[in-house]
Amino acid sequence: MRSRRVSFAEPPLEEVKFSDFSRHNIHFSFLRLDKIHSELGGNKYYKLKQNINHILTLGRPTVVSFGGAYSNHLRALAAAGRIYSFKTIGFVRGEIVRPLNPILKFCEENGMELKEISRENYRLKSSINFVRKLRSELGEYYLLPEGGSNLNALKGCAEIPRLIPNETEYNLRYITLACGTGLTLSGIVIGATQLERTQAIGFSALKAPGYLNREVEGYLSSISEEFCSNSLIPWRVEDEYHCGGYAKKTPKLIEFIERFTQETSVPIEPTYTGKMLYGLSQLLDDGVVESSTQVVAIHTGGVYLN
Ligand SMILES: *Cc1c(COP(=O)(O)O)cnc(C)c1O
Repeated sequence: MRSRRVSFAEPPLEEVKFSDFSRHNIHFSFLRLDKIHSELGGNKYYKLKQNINHILTLGRPTVVSFGGAYSNHLRALAAAGRIYSFKTIGFVRGEIVRPLNPILKFCEENGMELKEISRENYRLKSSINFVRKLRSELGEYYLLPEGGSNLNALKGCAEIPRLIPNETEYNLRYITLACGTGLTLSGIVIGATQLERTQAIGFSALKAPGYLNREVEGYLSSISEEFCSNSLIPWRVEDEYHCGGYAKKTPKLIEFIERFTQETSVPIEPTYTGKMLYGLSQLLDDGVVESSTQVVAIHTGGVYLN
């Protein structure tokens, strides 16, 4: 099988006017990673990019990964497998319900073999015994952790800040983005050392206070001086804008997203980017994010389900 020719778009940095932000005199722009590719776009493009290169140099082994039933990571991996002609196996946490939801349906249509993994085993998925069992069943394979969050992904995400100009005319510039595993935020922090007067704020999509701060610290301390010699930009994770938990919604969040989309015509989904912008508007109202500054928000992509 030959790879289809595939082209990826350079993600634009778009200035966007939204009254909640302009009220605080914020210069707001959106880095539209969602425009890179319809199936392999968003932050998942950067998380998979160097992994894909590695998979191709290894001669296209079967790629095994893990995720929940609505995993954007499995979806992107399935698309990558189809585009670059390698086999993918996705272990789905819990039961696989048929008919499949749109994410898993997409995965299967793109050639991913779906396997169930119980919640208990899911927790043990990186244990020696589980990995040994997989090896004996599958032979050689390339393992991507949940969310695709490994060192190659970190290196890929460290490329994202290159899309932002080094200079800013403002006293302070914030980079804001939604977080699931915290890997994309970590990569951005690593890659942003050349950006002037800039700090990063991640917004947790999960109800797990303190968890992502620890995860990001872990990722940052896992990298060697090889690609991080300068001091890192300041960063933090806001834990209070999960709206009830992962993939949960509140009427206020929905109202906010509708208003944002109406005013700006930029589509955002409620699981990640919607919550991030909602949290940002609250932090502005509370004076935690300073007014008269610059905000570069990362549009990490995502899937629109209703
Ligand atoms: C996966 C995903 C995230 C979270 O990325 P992490 O690197 O796991 O923090 C954010 N936004 C969207 C749209 C995603 O699909």
